[in-house]
Amino acid sequence: MKWIKAEGVEFKYIFPNDKNFTEVEFLFKTKIIDSYYNMPLLRDNDLPDELYKIIQNGNNTRLAIFKRPQFPKNQKENITFYDAPYCIVWPNYDIDLNVLDQKVINDTFNDQDFINSIKTYIQRVVCFTCHQEYVSLVIDPGAIYIILDKSGKPDSSKLDLLEKKLHRVNLKKCPNCSSSFTIYVAKILYKCEDKKFTW
Ligand SMILES: [Zn+2]
Repeated sequence: MKWIKAEGVEFKYIFPNDKNFTEVEFLFKTKIIDSYYNMPLLRDNDLPDELYKIIQNGNNTRLAIFKRPQFPKNQKENITFYDAPYCIVWPNYDIDLNVLDQKVINDTFNDQDFINSIKTYIQRVVCFTCHQEYVSLVIDPGAIYIILDKSGKPDSSKLDLLEKKLHRVNLKKCPNCSSSFTIYVAKILYKCEDKKFTW
């Protein structure tokens, strides 16, 4: 694992077969939403635990931890940050992640390597037209990317990164009937019926 900064955002990049992953693995196994600030990666209770292990080493997916801010109720209190587990996905498969892993190790990556990536969580998605169910990587439109200013506070002039990324991502439609989903689906992992991965 390594704290890195790309596109102005700091996050912990998790490698496949990461030696130190056990320290944070509990974050990726948790399925209980206990508050707005503690959102798990797996947002359905009956999703299989091993999904995060597959994503950790996917062709176009990596696990990552982003800081999720809790804004204070009054100005005297400081902003606190939570560790929030996410899957980063490159929906267009336009990157070789084995190469990127090495670049992260050697500190030779740049913003361009992450420009087509987006952070997601895992959820069961139902097509309202044909009722087919899929386990998917979904973009949370409320999970903005936080860029900190010099004093360590979120820079309110730079809160549009998620919006920019949403414009670049080709959102997935139902593979069965081509209808749009009602939420932002960045990648379909498998159809619930047959559980075959669509890597
Ligand atoms: Zn459909």
